Amino acid sequence: MRMLPPRGRRRAARDPRRAAPPAAPPAPTPPVTLLVRPEVLRSLAASVATAGDVETGGPLIGTVQRSWEPAGERLIVCVLATVAPSARDGRVASVSVGRGGEGERAASAVRWWRSASGLDLVHLGDWHRHVWGSPEPSGGDRATAKRLGAQSPAPVWLTAVATGRRRRRHQAEEKGEEVRFIDAAAVTGVVRFFREAGGAGLVAVRARVEGAALPALPALPWYVADPARFAAECRLLRAAGYRAALQPASSDDGHGAVLRLRREGAPDVTVITGPRYPRQAPVRLDARGRRVPPAGAWSPHRYLVDLVDLVGEEKR
Ligand SMILES: [Zn+2]
Repeated sequence: MRMLPPRGRRRAARDPRRAAPPAAPPAPTPPVTLLVRPEVLRSLAASVATAGDVETGGPLIGTVQRSWEPAGERLIVCVLATVAPSARDGRVASVSVGRGGEGERAASAVRWWRSASGLDLVHLGDWHRHVWGSPEPSGGDRATAKRLGAQSPAPVWLTAVATGRRRRRHQAEEKGEEVRFIDAAAVTGVVRFFREAGGAGLVAVRARVEGAALPALPALPWYVADPARFAAECRLLRAAGYRAALQPASSDDGHGAVLRLRREGAPDVTVITGPRYPRQAPVRLDARGRRVPPAGAWSPHRYLVDLVDLVGEEKR
């Protein structure tokens, strides 16, 4: 129990009408049911696997719905996606929505998913990895969550802390006349979810991994997932005299893009890129829509301009 300073107590006792009105109790934060798509954990594990000793992280994206239950209001929070850091030079940094280059990438991913899915997707919070130590939030994590939670328009702010490392596993087991062996690299770790609860700070929330009842978001098309690559493609095409028009396209295996390319004095070229471009080879069509056989083997280190410039060369 906290003792009132004697001065205040005397004053309150002398004139009860002048006592300060009791402070308004903090707005109650409705309890949360937290559901997480398995793809989020898969993406998180993949980021941890490639991060080495770097503290990686990313945004948590999903939906919030209110549920009016007899016991009171409850928030149903569904984490549907995260944006993995783009691997550049083997180093992996963390991604925060709207902040810095990687943040712009995350913001455009949210916009694309929103329009593709029709879901009211929001930035629910962030996850990050503790390279060493436990999945308990640090003092810095608590301060960051307090600040970002206050700025966020979402009715809930989550912080998830992951641990984990990639380890090689060798195992041999005798079975009758055979010896069975496994040699595999696996990521094992844990992730804990917390919600920012105002005065109470970060409070642990139990998460349920749910694959059947939550909508899965489509894979991002390459030009949204890797805008740096897309910008480089456009720059190179422009430098070669091409004007490019992008037309989103979807197929059974995901979202890609059709690029219509025009250059003064050269026949039009159409390039079809699949969802896994540049790992997947693009297809080029001539001005009459006929498929042009590739001039050589495709490599992810080549660019569209390498592909279409050959078309221009052929016609000279
Ligand atoms: Zn931390």
